[in-house]
Amino acid sequence: MEMTGLQIFKYLPAAKKTEHTNCKQCGCPTCMAFALKLAKQNIEIEKCPYIKEELKNLYFQNIKHPQNTVKIGSLTIGGENVLYRHEKTFINRTVLAICLDCNIPDFDNEIKRISDFEIKGVNEILKIDLIILKNSQKIDINNLKDKISIEIISFEDYKNFEINTFTDNDFYETKDYLITTRTRAIVDKDEACSKPVCVWLKSENLYELTTHASFYICKYANMLVFETFEEALFSTILRLRQNIYTNPQKPLQVESDLYEFNSPDRNSIIFLTTNFALTFFAVANELEGVNIPSYLIVIPADGMSVLTAWSAEKFTANIVSKTIDKLKIREKINTRKIIIPGLLAHIIPELQQAVSDFEFIVGTNEASEIREFIKNINR
Ligand code: SF4
Repeated sequence: MEMTGLQIFKYLPAAKKTEHTNCKQCGCPTCMAFALKLAKQNIEIEKCPYIKEELKNLYFQNIKHPQNTVKIGSLTIGGENVLYRHEKTFINRTVLAICLDCNIPDFDNEIKRISDFEIKGVNEILKIDLIILKNSQKIDINNLKDKISIEIISFEDYKNFEINTFTDNDFYETKDYLITTRTRAIVDKDEACSKPVCVWLKSENLYELTTHASFYICKYANMLVFETFEEALFSTILRLRQNIYTNPQKPLQVESDLYEFNSPDRNSIIFLTTNFALTFFAVANELEGVNIPSYLIVIPADGMSVLTAWSAEKFTANIVSKTIDKLKIREKINTRKIIIPGLLAHIIPELQQAVSDFEFIVGTNEASEIREFIKNINR
């Protein structure tokens, strides 16, 4: 059982009413705040210099990860300690690997294709993690490592790692195995289930692979191995994986910036929205797809969607005005009209007052309506 904040607090100076009570050296305003953070493992225990060995020992004993970790090069596999990501963020992303046979035709090109494959995720480039090489020709793997940008190991070496490998012959069987193993590891602290679990996918059907892999990323594969490389498959599951392995309490957000679509010039239309990743990508996809040059100003709103940002005072006339200044919109663009989300039509008077040299226009409530809207707008 992990320690609660109150249990931790009892060992801290504030509870014992000793020197250094609430001294803030840990970066928290009080010992209680530190205890609550530590209980959630959101701060390192060493941040408080006044913690006694007794608490340290208890703490480390209690947070011992129920699932072991395995290192393959720079990759860490396993080490999860919760069943649901709303309890605590999942730690180590499901490693995505491709098993490649050195005897396939065009081996050199295929290995380069896999290594070079990348897609743009939210604030990061997403790639496949690992190649497992069936190396009957005894190719020099160290030599290959210098040429590619992802990890590579031989199939023989893979077999030596302390990983449970389960072959995906039947979806229900695999699903049951994954759920049972993770539950026994986390809830029952069953040592027999403490190894990370890898699912080896054999199907050649792209839809089947995508649906199975998507489920197994959510529940509860620490690693997936594919015997085929399809860009569509990995584009889907890499994005899914990024979403699952984020902190659910912190919405995914993009940079506050000026984004360009379809090579805009100084007179192109300007849209404006918040930096919530979902909102951004919904709007960006529409702007890109409509094939009309445009700009999108993204304001910093702590990753909140439009209405939430407004109600939390993160989408205010003042913030819009500051963002326009910071992004140097006046210097970069001649257009003096900005289309704002339809849901915030009521703040137009405030915007107009704060940024008097721009005209603010009410846009659509939904990103999916932008296509029609943009065609009819008087530019
Ligand atoms: Fe309390 Fe330690 Fe933080 Fe000081 S450094 S406030 S004693 S927890």
